[in-house]
Amino acid sequence: MNLISTRNSNESVSALNAVLKGIASDGGLYVPEVFPQIDKEKFLEWGKGPYEKCAAQVLAYYFGLSEDELLPMVTAAYSSFSDEEVVPIQKVEGDYYLELFHGPTLAFKDIALALLPHLMNRALRHTDENVLILTATSGDTGKAALEGFKNAPRTAICALYPAGGVSDVQRLQMVTQEGSNVYVAGVEGNFDDAQNAVKALFLNREFRAAAKERGYTLSSANSINFGRLAPQIVYYIYAYARLVAAKEITNGRKINIVVPTGNFGNILAAYYAKRMGLPVHRLICASNKNNVLTDFFESGVYAANREFYKTISPSMDILISSNLERLIFEYYRRDSLKMRDVMRELSLERHYSVNQNIRNELIMDFYGDFADEFPTMNSIKKSFTQNGYLIDPHTAVARTVYEKYKKILGDGSPAIIAATASPYKFAGDVLYAVTKERVEDPFQAAEALARLAGESVPAQLLELRNKKERFADVLTADPEEIGRAILSNILA
Ligand SMILES: *Cc1c(COP(=O)(O)O)cnc(C)c1O
Repeated sequence: MNLISTRNSNESVSALNAVLKGIASDGGLYVPEVFPQIDKEKFLEWGKGPYEKCAAQVLAYYFGLSEDELLPMVTAAYSSFSDEEVVPIQKVEGDYYLELFHGPTLAFKDIALALLPHLMNRALRHTDENVLILTATSGDTGKAALEGFKNAPRTAICALYPAGGVSDVQRLQMVTQEGSNVYVAGVEGNFDDAQNAVKALFLNREFRAAAKERGYTLSSANSINFGRLAPQIVYYIYAYARLVAAKEITNGRKINIVVPTGNFGNILAAYYAKRMGLPVHRLICASNKNNVLTDFFESGVYAANREFYKTISPSMDILISSNLERLIFEYYRRDSLKMRDVMRELSLERHYSVNQNIRNELIMDFYGDFADEFPTMNSIKKSFTQNGYLIDPHTAVARTVYEKYKKILGDGSPAIIAATASPYKFAGDVLYAVTKERVEDPFQAAEALARLAGESVPAQLLELRNKKERFADVLTADPEEIGRAILSNILA
């Protein structure tokens, strides 16, 4: 299938090409020309498993590759996952937690980023260039991308994280990264500063030319890349199919999907699944204290010009949710001229607004709300003490918002809650929430948590303990400085 740019519907490229390019040349995001439609009978088939089969079939709709060609790629991508179900579901108090964190970095981004290198490698067959992957991370993307792309042929990768803005474990995961084609650096400022620097590098002629001279073209592993989005559509469809197969819901019954949201990538994938025919009642967009999306769904105004908070759910500490552009594009009836105006307004004024009609339509599909730090902590504690189920702070934001939603709207639809990270990845805060005991060392905290829950610490975390720190650089958010560092470290 071909994809078009949100800012120019005449720019049309194949899905594989879009994966290579990352972002359209006009600065727009690639979106599917049409949404493929899934027959309801398919849920019965996919519900039998395995995950890989459903993934290969769903992705085949988009990538112009056969199921036979996709299956080995998908299988290789998920072979490193520690749960053979890939995305197991836990039923807790009537809600379904979709555990997306059994990959190598213990967060949901592994699901797309384990597959992306395979898609990229397939796309490279049609060119003789190499790719340089540039990625800004709020904590989880960076490691997942590094892990996916380390030592991948014809690929170099650079991950930039906000210095001081990621958790200990997240930082350690990145600065200990192995591989000969990787570079990691901290950037002074917050995630948006790091992301803006990456966007500026993409548009910087001199940097592009310098990379090109060395045989490299730029691409991104951020959630603006369609190759990130597509694999995420799969697990919502698969989870639904599994619930039908387990007779938890009848085929066709509408469900709610609750997603702890930052850059709006994961929840957008759920929206795409809905557009493909997944029976979804409401998509619940759960934010932390950086509640710019909550305000957007409430008032129709997206105002990024506000104070930035560091929270215990750092992967959601974001003020500019890039993927919202793809959503608004749909509500503007795919009017790319209008999108250009809206996005210009955002970049100049740091805000934009949508009209009343769009607001009315948005609230039929979405409910947005946020959870502050204290209720989030409380939710972690409640989930454990009442149900013996440990959740991480991001998942706890989703739980908190959903409890509130049920109370306010009295909606009894079954719900899938995206459990986006392992509680062991954020063990210090989770342990504190449950016991009020402060343990600074992340490994000791994880061990204490495991004792409490009668579980074992995931091997993915234990491995980190003995790894050497390789990357100490902290750069300013100046794109030129970052560009120089990249050229001398991995493209030299
Ligand atoms: C990235 C991330 C999120 C936010 O997902 P978006 O796609 O950016 O909205 C939520 N939770 C965790 C654990 C994450 O790593």
